[in-house]
Amino acid sequence: MKDISAIRADFPILGRTVYDKDLVYFDNGATTQKPKCVIDAATEVFTLYNSNIHRGVHFLSDMASEEYENARERVRSFINAGSREEVVFTAGATASINAVAFSFGERFVGRGDEILISHLEHHANIVPWQMLCSRKQAVLKVIPVDDNGEIIFEEYLKLLGKKTRLVSVAQVSNALGVILPVDRIISAAHSMNIPVLVDGAQGVQHGVSDVRKMDCDFYVFSGHKIYGPAGIGVLYGKAELLSELPPYQGGGDMVKNVPFEKTSYNDLPFKFEAGTVNFPGAIGLARALEYLLSLGMDNIKQRERDLLEYATQQMLSVKGLKIYGNSPEKISVISFLLKDIHMYDTGMILDKLGIAVRTGTHCAQPVMDRFGIEGTVRASMCFYNTREEIDRLCAGIEKVISMFS
Ligand code: PLP
Repeated sequence: MKDISAIRADFPILGRTVYDKDLVYFDNGATTQKPKCVIDAATEVFTLYNSNIHRGVHFLSDMASEEYENARERVRSFINAGSREEVVFTAGATASINAVAFSFGERFVGRGDEILISHLEHHANIVPWQMLCSRKQAVLKVIPVDDNGEIIFEEYLKLLGKKTRLVSVAQVSNALGVILPVDRIISAAHSMNIPVLVDGAQGVQHGVSDVRKMDCDFYVFSGHKIYGPAGIGVLYGKAELLSELPPYQGGGDMVKNVPFEKTSYNDLPFKFEAGTVNFPGAIGLARALEYLLSLGMDNIKQRERDLLEYATQQMLSVKGLKIYGNSPEKISVISFLLKDIHMYDTGMILDKLGIAVRTGTHCAQPVMDRFGIEGTVRASMCFYNTREEIDRLCAGIEKVISMFS
């Protein structure tokens, strides 16, 4: 893998200071920083070929359309989808889940049916299902988790039943960093012909995510969490399933023929892409994926595993620090609290030391309730972070403790 100083040089923001201190950015779970190639992609679109896609016959429109469809192909191969028809661009993971909740819900969910999620979910994978359940008088069921933040698999098996219409689970918990056993979750659901949506918002950027190997029915993620721009995301769905679903938004580009009597819809994936989509975002996302491939997804995984091991070791040696989410299967996230010190005090003092961490429920209130806490401090690391930065975090935490003792 490329040398770490060369990698860091690819991300201009990592060179800045905050409060006259070198920035330590440990809020990658919320959003990742952008390599120069992604920043340049936006400039290229707007200076070279900005034009609406799929609409014009002129040179610029053709070029923009081609780049947009190339981006779709890049996403397809990155997640190993079977065809480009299965890759729908949306505004992000939240938009993708809402699209499935509406569209799948419209087609397949009725009164008394059940949707199964886990206790670890981000609000984006809770609220759309609650809304669907209230629309359709369906029932939301929740897979419980144990004290390590792992789902209790036997309970999951008990919850799967004749009324279950869909299982929707995170690949990785954003609040704790715990990896869910999605392969086992999917094969148990499939043995009862129940489709599964995997929320890859915190998984896709940390290693190879092969949707065909996983055999998930839907897979969603956001561009901004995988080093691409905000406002773009992906909904992968198996073609045979997507073709059965009604569109969830109407408008331009998702149609074939629009007489007043009855509109006929466009083919996949356009049926689900109404209106002018965020094509600069899609092109930027493709650049981000190319960048990651140039580093190597396995190299990224290895580097992040090393950072997680080092950070866990160092942080466990801090007296009074408790880590939430102690599963051996984790990504490079440490969610913690300091004894008798409020998470916001910890976060604010670390900020003044130039260290960006996230504090709060991380949009996953139920999992905080499960542990009987208001929230945590979350340090989410990625391949461009270093052991020296972890040392600075630990020194910062010691400083917080000394200020409150
Ligand atoms: N799912 C998970 C697991 C997340 O961590 C997030 C964001 O933090 C989302 C969904 C929603 O992502 P976005 O806000 O980019 O739509």
